[in-house]
Amino acid sequence: MSAPSVSFEFFPPKSLEGSFRLWDCVNTLAPLDPTFVSVTYGAGGTTRKLTHEAVGTIHKTSGLNVAAHLTCVDATRSETLEIADGYAEAGVREIVALRGDAPKGAEKFTPHADGFASSIELIAALAETGKFTLRVGAYPEKHPEAADQAADIAFLKRKIDAGATSAVTQFFFEADTFFRFRDACVKAGIDAPIIPGILPIENWTGTQRFAAQCGTHIPQLIQDAFTNATRDGTTDLLATALATELCDDLRQGGVDHFHFYTLNRPELTRDVCHALGVTPKVRLQNVA
Ligand code: FAD
Repeated sequence: MSAPSVSFEFFPPKSLEGSFRLWDCVNTLAPLDPTFVSVTYGAGGTTRKLTHEAVGTIHKTSGLNVAAHLTCVDATRSETLEIADGYAEAGVREIVALRGDAPKGAEKFTPHADGFASSIELIAALAETGKFTLRVGAYPEKHPEAADQAADIAFLKRKIDAGATSAVTQFFFEADTFFRFRDACVKAGIDAPIIPGILPIENWTGTQRFAAQCGTHIPQLIQDAFTNATRDGTTDLLATALATELCDDLRQGGVDHFHFYTLNRPELTRDVCHALGVTPKVRLQNVA
């Protein structure tokens, strides 16, 4: 079995220290030759400028294919399309197009009076420009706001039909969760690739909180294992083993691309990639 392809998600730094951390992350993971790397857009559009700067800098200095996350939150249509235009001018060709979550303090997403009312509208407008490859979010355990999984998958189909060419999933911890979701998507007529989002657990407390918010189920086995590993000081080892095992199970089911949520900490993701046979590509210019 040949090594899978990989991609990595980063978030934009808010401080000088954060910038160094991101840079270390990019330099550690770039040799693994990712298909693309993506940069998030802070909830409520809070990192608009920082995302733009991080995307531009990574694109310019690393030569990696960068996908900029873009949401509909708190911006007019023209402001959002202007940001996208800026990316196109900078040579950025990929966008992860999302509705986005509500800004802090707000209970639910409310469209800006002159803004895109849904991810579908955003995707359609970006597709019309003809300038981008568009990826979207997908939810193997259903989005918390969806009535049920069938409605969620029907909505995903509309996002693909609006012009997206692949979907990246929310993180999950059991391969069967993904397989069931993938089968249901195929049954609903979705033929675009669905890329599993993998979260190597860097911070157990934060992961539990985040999983509860997203509706991601954490199996009891993982909860017990983390209780023991926390006691023994072996959480990194456990996190690497769990993420590798999950990817391995997914590989057995035909998955050939993994998207890693790095949280700007490259070590766990690098170790999982190595275990999967994704190893550094040495550039000829560096050995000649
Ligand atoms: P959508 O797919 O548009 O909506 C989510 C679900 O809600 C739909 O599947 C559907 O079931 C239901 N729904 C929504 N609108 C309607 C409607 N009009 N009618 C019927 N049902 C509807 N958030 C950020 O703020 N910044 C990021 O950078 C970011 N990156 C992400 C990357 C990935 C890979 C993923 C999976 C999520 C990311 N998020 C990010 C989180 C995301 O913004 C939230 O999950 C948000 O609540 C939904 O965005 P979406 O585009 O996936 O939503």
